[in-house]
Amino acid sequence: MLKVVIAGVSGRMGHALLDGVFSDNGLQLHAALDRAGSPMLGRDAGEQFGKVTGVKITSDVAPALQGADVLVDFTRPEASMQYLQACQQANVKLVIGTTGFSEAEKSAITAAARHVGIVFAPNMSVGVTLLINLVEQAARVLNEGYDIEVVEMHHRHKVDAPSGTALRLGEAAAKGIDKALKDCAVYAREGVTGEREAGTIGFATMRGGDVVGDHTVVLAGVGERVELTHKASSRATFAQGALRAAKFLADKPSGLFDMRDVLGFAKN
Ligand code: NAD
Repeated sequence: MLKVVIAGVSGRMGHALLDGVFSDNGLQLHAALDRAGSPMLGRDAGEQFGKVTGVKITSDVAPALQGADVLVDFTRPEASMQYLQACQQANVKLVIGTTGFSEAEKSAITAAARHVGIVFAPNMSVGVTLLINLVEQAARVLNEGYDIEVVEMHHRHKVDAPSGTALRLGEAAAKGIDKALKDCAVYAREGVTGEREAGTIGFATMRGGDVVGDHTVVLAGVGERVELTHKASSRATFAQGALRAAKFLADKPSGLFDMRDVLGFAKN
């Protein structure tokens, strides 16, 4: 049985992950982590599910990792950086679903993957993984004369914008038109912006209610437009993907992987 540590257990994704682990016979909850000061510390990780697991929620990272196979992290970048370092020291693999990393933090993840196996993906759903491939293909085919915009909506509690998934879709579109996203992204428009510059990729962000995650990539030409859309209606889809990623890492001592590797999708 794969021994799994879940970080951020009091969060929305933490809840979905615990649910996923409890209903999978191949997975064992080894430890449950939350931030220091969380009111959940010391409580049984199964409490919200009416279960007694004997695993107490803790903020003490090093003891939690002892004897574990993989840590699944859906928290905040500063916490993920701490888990990254601890996992390297304890030789524990990592599934990172957290979003909102800086370029320096992403480089730290790449460097750590030389020592431990890591799956890092801003969206763990099968549908979005497919969408990333479709967007790259669409951008490649509609390279001339089509304007690319990425629109996303999430619940009112989300703290980063645009979403990690929107940025990933932007990267895929940029690759399709042979550019780097940093050279063509437009993250905000206000006032007299002037006409749209050809070859740019625009982003629009909406926040509200309990929307789990909607993403649309629009490729707008003259006389037609193509819209590629994904809508998540439950966090279970991300949790199932993350736990699949944890199993995928079982025989990967090192290396950086994304969900296309986990799901066996061809990379464009
Ligand atoms: P949330 O706010 O509901 O939960 C965050 C959890 O992290 C909480 O348990 C909180 O206590 C913990 N935490 C926060 N700061 C911490 C710290 N400094 N140290 C330790 N723990 C800390 O958020 P959520 O909706 O569950 O999302 C969590 C992250 O996962 C976000 O970055 C979100 O964008 C991302 N996410 C990714 C996917 C994906 O498929 N990759 C899907 C959904 C959400």
